Amino acid sequence: MNPEPTARITFLGTGTSSGIPSIGCTCGVCRSTDPHDKRLRPSIHVDVPGRASILVDTSPDLRQQALTYDVTRVDAILFTHSHADHILGLDEIRRFNFMQRGAIPCYATPDVWTNIRRTFHYIFDGVPRLGGGIPMIEAHDIDGPFAIAGVRVVPVPLLHGNMPILGFRFGSFAYLTDCSAIPDGSWQLVEGVDTLVIDALRDKKHSTHFTVDEALAAIERIAPRRAYLTHMAHDLGHAQTNTRLPAGVELAYDGLVLDATVDAS
Ligand SMILES: [Zn+2]
Ligand SMILES: [Zn+2]
Ligand SMILES: [Zn+2]
Repeated sequence: MNPEPTARITFLGTGTSSGIPSIGCTCGVCRSTDPHDKRLRPSIHVDVPGRASILVDTSPDLRQQALTYDVTRVDAILFTHSHADHILGLDEIRRFNFMQRGAIPCYATPDVWTNIRRTFHYIFDGVPRLGGGIPMIEAHDIDGPFAIAGVRVVPVPLLHGNMPILGFRFGSFAYLTDCSAIPDGSWQLVEGVDTLVIDALRDKKHSTHFTVDEALAAIERIAPRRAYLTHMAHDLGHAQTNTRLPAGVELAYDGLVLDATVDAS
């Protein structure tokens, strides 16, 4: 087996929780005609051909994202945390259950499972429902590194305000969305990554997200070859913001595709 399979990573959404444009907003970014300024809710698709098609989070836009970016199979779902913009699309996996004729393994921390069980009570309550299908999932607890079809996944603990959440590292690639601090023990987990994706909500300080400057400081310390910012609010126009970012750092955008080597496990 190839020891270093290549993953094709697609950004399914790079916007903050409201999506961009935001409903009713008339600001320059929300009214922009640049397609890079249209941002669905945050999620990525990590496709490792011949091994696994993995979703990170199930955004409220999952149906539209799957149709637009041709996600036709999902072998596993990883949850970073249980905020609405990261889980509310879970019901959409019914189509994948139907096409694949089976449940989808989903990975989250026990705290996140508690919240998902509450939000999606009908998936878990065991009550038979006439007519309508319900999502079929296999719930797995994350308690350290694990493998999906031979692809190694390293959870990276992050702080999202005072909420502990997870980023994920797949070999040379790390995805750190929704964070305002990287705890001491987590820097070593992202050491040596080639490609880093990291939260940068806006320029103004925020209690649960990195600003652009805070993201740049983290990027400088991690020192990847290239870095992409995600989870942007409407304060950050794509073209204008990119002109002031240092070499090797860019805003991600919906539909951006990257290749990265992942670790075989
Ligand atoms: Zn706006
Ligand atoms: Zn969040
Ligand atoms: Zn979020």
